[in-house]
Amino acid sequence: MQTTLFDLSGKTAIITGCNTGLGQGMASGLAEAGCNIVGVNRRSAETTRQLVEAAGAQFLEIEADLGSTAPIAEIMQKTEQHFGKADILINNAGIIRRADALSFTEQDWDDVLDVNLKSLFFLSQAFAQACIQQQRRGKIINIASMLSFQGGIRVPSYTASKSGVLGLTRLMANEWASQGINANAIAPGYMATNNTEALRNDPDRSKEILNRIPAGQWGNPEDLAGAAVFLASDASNYVHGHTLAVDGGWLAR
Ligand code: NAP
Repeated sequence: MQTTLFDLSGKTAIITGCNTGLGQGMASGLAEAGCNIVGVNRRSAETTRQLVEAAGAQFLEIEADLGSTAPIAEIMQKTEQHFGKADILINNAGIIRRADALSFTEQDWDDVLDVNLKSLFFLSQAFAQACIQQQRRGKIINIASMLSFQGGIRVPSYTASKSGVLGLTRLMANEWASQGINANAIAPGYMATNNTEALRNDPDRSKEILNRIPAGQWGNPEDLAGAAVFLASDASNYVHGHTLAVDGGWLAR
């Protein structure tokens, strides 16, 4: 194996929602591979900064609420001012709202779609425009879900958004692959983060889920690092429009 294929030295990755959870795990993994990180968060990402700097990489913090597309131009500008360019974009920020479809509110629909799908698309668009203008390779990694493949229970807007992420990843690849931009997605299985706290605290649902995971355990944020480094690196240059499940075997059942 040529480890240089996975080397991210001198690269810069924008990662949304990396102050905790899966985004933090991927920031740490990319930094270990030599990548500088631009963390886009609503709140401070101090712990992530410490992890990235401990790995010997640089961390730029940008405060932004991706509930709207308004901060996108500034995210790109600040990244370019500080690092000169962005090579990798990981669209990780995401929220979930749980209620029956019969009583689901328009607010819970719009809030989730705005962060999980609309901002993901328009940030990808801004990133792709910059790569094409500067004639540079680019790597887009969208964070999908098991609910990109399955219907889910009591999460209508989340399922719509994550099914949309899988489709949009293919669409981006169809348009941008020939311009040197790889658009792919990672579909995490059931991972122990804030996003799944309600499920893990529900003894019945938690048991049902755990019994169905062939690996026999919830995933951890570090479990995404390998897939993220692969899709961010030259090792995946001919991989386009793919959604890679990192799910302890969930989809194999
Ligand atoms: P998490 O711990 O709740 O992290 C979500 C991240 O998104 C946080 O950093 C959060 O920041 C950020 N975020 C939310 N709304 C935002 C906004 N409006 N603007 C900017 N940042 C915002 O959950 P996670 O599990 O790590 O989730 C990360 C991604 O993985 C999400 O897209 C999620 O849907 C997906 N995913 C998770 C699982 C799982 O089992 N955990 C499975 C499949 C997919 P704040 O602190 O500001 O809220």
